[in-house]
Amino acid sequence: MALSLYNTLGRKTEVFTPRVSGEAGFYGCGPTVYNYAHIGNLRAYVTHDVLVRTLRERGYRVTHVMNITDVGHLSGDNDEGEDKMVKSAEEARKSVLEVARVYTEAFFKDTEALNIRRPDVVCRATEHIGEMIALIKRIEAGGYTYFSGGNLYFDVTKFPNYGELALLRLDELEAGARVGVDKNKRGPHDFVLWFTKSKFENQALVWDSPWGRGYPGWHIECTAMSSKYLGEQFDIHAGGIDHIPIHHTNEIAQAEAGYGKRPWVRYWVHNEFLVMNKGKMSKSAGGFLTLQTLAENGFDALDYRYFLLGAHYRSQLQFSFDALLGAKSARASLLDKLYATADKTTSEQAQAACAAGISGKAADYLAAFNVAIDEDLSTPRALAELWGILRDTGVDPALTLAAAFRMDRILGLRLEEAAFSRHTDTVDGAFALDIERLIAERAEAKKAKQFARADEIRAHLKERGILLEDTKEGTVWKRIK
Ligand code: AMP
Ligand code: ZN
Repeated sequence: MALSLYNTLGRKTEVFTPRVSGEAGFYGCGPTVYNYAHIGNLRAYVTHDVLVRTLRERGYRVTHVMNITDVGHLSGDNDEGEDKMVKSAEEARKSVLEVARVYTEAFFKDTEALNIRRPDVVCRATEHIGEMIALIKRIEAGGYTYFSGGNLYFDVTKFPNYGELALLRLDELEAGARVGVDKNKRGPHDFVLWFTKSKFENQALVWDSPWGRGYPGWHIECTAMSSKYLGEQFDIHAGGIDHIPIHHTNEIAQAEAGYGKRPWVRYWVHNEFLVMNKGKMSKSAGGFLTLQTLAENGFDALDYRYFLLGAHYRSQLQFSFDALLGAKSARASLLDKLYATADKTTSEQAQAACAAGISGKAADYLAAFNVAIDEDLSTPRALAELWGILRDTGVDPALTLAAAFRMDRILGLRLEEAAFSRHTDTVDGAFALDIERLIAERAEAKKAKQFARADEIRAHLKERGILLEDTKEGTVWKRIK
C-alpha cells in the first residue's frame, strides 16, 4: 500500500516517492495576517494537516513549513490593488506589525481549535528579507529580470517553462490578455520581485537592497522561505486552487531560474474552494465567516472539521448552516457510538489492544480506511470506515476503540480524549443533539401558543449553560461564558 496524491503538475494521481527515502519536506502557503482567517482559508489548513498527519502515519519524517505573510501581499495576486497589511493597519490605526501580531495569534487559536498540528517551522516574511534578496540576486544574475519604474520585475518570456503548472500558453494568453494596470510591466504576466517605488506613500516596512530601499513581492517570500528550510528542491507544496495560475506559477519560475534545478517541487497539492451561495468566500470581498461566527452559532470547531472531512479536498464544498448542522448531528451520533463502545471497555484495554496489534475484523476496517486515505486522501470514504467499525457490534470493543483511535491520528477529531472524558465537554456529543431537540420542541410549543412550556425549555437550557437567541434565521444557541 502506498500513498498516492493528485499532482497538479501533470494533472494526474501519482504514488508519493520522496526525494530522500523516509523523509518528506512539505510547504503549505500560510495566511496573510491582515484579518481573521475565514472558514474557506481554514479548509486549506485542515487539508494540509490531514496530509501531514498521513505522511507521519506512513512513517515519513516530515518537516512541515508554513509562512506568515506580513508584508508585500497586494489585494490582487498579480501586483495590483492595495497592500493588504498597510490598509488593515490604517483602518485599525495600528502599526503593521501590531496588526500582524494580533491576527497571527488569532490564526493559531483557530488552528488549535480545529486540532491542526502546528507546523515544525513557522516563518515570518519580515524576518527573511535577507534570504529573499539573496534569491533575487541569483535570478537577476541569470538574466531573468528588468528594472522599470523603480521596481525589479521577473520577465516571464526569459523562462521557457513558464506556466507549466497552470497549463498556460503564453502566446495565446498574450494576445487575449487585458491591458495590465501596471504600466511598468513589459508583459502582463511579468511580476514584481522587489518594489522600491511604492505605490503607497505610507509603505510602513522598507529595507535596503541592491535595487534601492523597498520591500519584496509576495511570491518571492514563499520561494525563499520554503527553500531555506526544505532545500533548493523539495517534495510537496500546497495551497488553494487560486494559487495555481499566479502565485505558484511565479514561485516555480523564481525557484527554477534562481536555483537552476528542475523540478523545484515534485508534488503540487491544491484544495478546492469552500463556497457560499455559489461564490468563493474571500477576505477582501468582506462578509466572510470565521470560526468565531460558527462558535457564536453554537458550533464546535470540530463540527467544522468533521464537515470538511465529509468532502474530498479536491471537490468544491458548498457551505450552509444547515449543512453544518448536519455535520454537527452526525459527529454527535458518532460520539454516542464511541461512548457506547467505551462503556464496554477501558482506556487500558484499548491501549493494550493497540499494543498487541489490531487484528481480525477491526484490522479489516483499518485496512479499508488506509486504502481510502492512500487514494489521494479520500476522507469521506475513510469516515465511512470509522462509522462502519463503530456500528459493527460484532467487533471486540477494545479493538474497535484501538482501530478508531488509530484512524483518528489522521482524521484529528479528538476521539481518544472524547471517549474517556465525555462529561467534561457537555456541548459535544449527545448534549448537542439534546439542545437541537429542545429547540425544536420549544418552536412547536410556541406555535401551539404553549408559552409556559417554551419558557420552561429556555430556562432549563440556561441552567445547563446554554443561551437561546431567536434570530430571523431561527433559534441559535451559545454557551454562556
Ligand atoms: P490567504 O490568507 O488569502 O493567502 O489564503 C490562505 C489559504 O486559503 C490559501 O491557500 C488560499 O488558496 C486558501 N483559500 C482562500 N480562499 C479559500 C476558499 N474560499 N476555500 C478554500 N481555500 C481558500
Ligand atoms: Zn505562498
